[in-house]
Amino acid sequence: MNTKYIFITGGVVSSLGKGIVAASLAKLLQASGYKVTIQKIDPYLNVDPGTMNPYEHGEVFVTEDGAETDLDLGHYERFLNIQTTKENNITSGSVYFNVINKEREGFYQGKTVQVVPHITDEIKRRIALLGKKGYEIVIVEIGGTVGDIESLPYIEAIRQLKYELGDNQALFLHVTLVPYIAAADELKTKPTQHSVKTLLSYGVQPDMLVCRAEREISPEIRRKIALFCNVRLEEVIQALDAETIYEVPFFLKKEKIDEVVLRKLNLPLRKDPDLRYWKKFVHTLKNPSDKVTIAVVGKYVEHQDAYKSIKEALIHGGVKNKLAVEIKWIHSEDINEENVERKFTGISGILVAPGFGKRGIAGKLIAIKYARENKIPFLGICLGMQTACIEFARNVLNLKDANSTEFDPETSNPVIHLMEDQKKITKLGGTMRLGAYECKIEKGTLAYKIYKKEIISERHRHRYEFNNDYREIFQQNGMIISGTNPKLNLVEIVEYKKHPFFIGCQFHPEFKSTVENAHPLFINFIANAYKLSN
Ligand code: GLN
Repeated sequence: MNTKYIFITGGVVSSLGKGIVAASLAKLLQASGYKVTIQKIDPYLNVDPGTMNPYEHGEVFVTEDGAETDLDLGHYERFLNIQTTKENNITSGSVYFNVINKEREGFYQGKTVQVVPHITDEIKRRIALLGKKGYEIVIVEIGGTVGDIESLPYIEAIRQLKYELGDNQALFLHVTLVPYIAAADELKTKPTQHSVKTLLSYGVQPDMLVCRAEREISPEIRRKIALFCNVRLEEVIQALDAETIYEVPFFLKKEKIDEVVLRKLNLPLRKDPDLRYWKKFVHTLKNPSDKVTIAVVGKYVEHQDAYKSIKEALIHGGVKNKLAVEIKWIHSEDINEENVERKFTGISGILVAPGFGKRGIAGKLIAIKYARENKIPFLGICLGMQTACIEFARNVLNLKDANSTEFDPETSNPVIHLMEDQKKITKLGGTMRLGAYECKIEKGTLAYKIYKKEIISERHRHRYEFNNDYREIFQQNGMIISGTNPKLNLVEIVEYKKHPFFIGCQFHPEFKSTVENAHPLFINFIANAYKLSN
């Protein structure tokens, strides 16, 4: 297949929402009948973001095939309703890692190994990998801002690629900022001109510009941008701030971005994008019939990007129930016995988030006890499930020192412990239980009511597990084990019997929720939270 490429770069400042522009453009092309995927390039030297602090990087998104990737891949999946793979994320760390390993193996036969051509060739090889998977269009989003030292090899690689691919096979889309200067009451084009000049100095002429602006860009300013940046008027696309990211495809459609792209790639306009479902989704999102407040308890709540997929999955689940979900972010370290009731006043559901390490565990346990005893709908994800088991063991089974060996290796009641095959692992990166695993659900349980099937598959990212020695005593005392991994015999879902909705899962359902496929756990969690508080 002749795969065509759209290379997206960013100019002027970071945080322009390149990922959302990429996902929205991909959505429009997909809705017109094209097979599209998106690749994210991160110019940092970490091999993957798996070992990075959530404060640094935000959420680590896990793919079906177990890659720990940039959170933009989450946007791609949520917008496109497709699954990405480890090939969809490139980091400089992984590029250099491969090149250096090859050098050590003698692959370069004594040659001097250099950024050009060896690093750039490796980048081109990695970009081409997705082209071999049957996509008609691959959008490649290059992280960072043009002018950064880190992204230079990528700009050089895409310059070469476009040249080698030939006419109409690839295009450069540059996302820039057209700031509004209040004192002059004007939108300014100079930053855009400068960033295009920087790109030109690398030999790259953008084919089109997506201009982020907080005010309407007048025809006059568009003409100015077109003239000075050497693109046609219709190739200057305005992208105004949107109320919700899910509206951006419509904003870009209005600007005819899809038509410009297809024309420049010499591809036919197969059909008008079919966005009926999206339209309905955005309409409900903006016009909900009521709202429900959900508390998310975690230790990275100041940095909500750390819980990106959870936040979006709550929105998707809310829309399915025609409800707006108001999230109250609660720092687990701020919760204590005295303030717990006050903290959760007005809350209809409590979600305890995934996480690593001991900090904030005490607050999570208090929150879980509160949810369990007060029959507040509860969803515990990964660490949230593990802490729910610790809480149950301590307060219901009276095993006062019950713990996870992650927090207390010496505990006499390790209800959560390290998996056998994790014990010998010494390296940190990419060594957790990662990616999709099957789970078998017991009939007659809440989980079965939610999933309505016996075999499901969900994504994982953890080292610790429920300790099977405690299965019997848990079951006998009202904590049902409703989902297990059939091959590895690991506990995947627990639910508390004497409660209308108390469920914990060892996997991460949030990674599989998309606009078109809201996740059943989130849909039911929100439905119950609303129902029980109204
Ligand atoms: N820290 C826990 C583990 O490694 C939970 C991980 C998570 O919540 N993703 O098992």
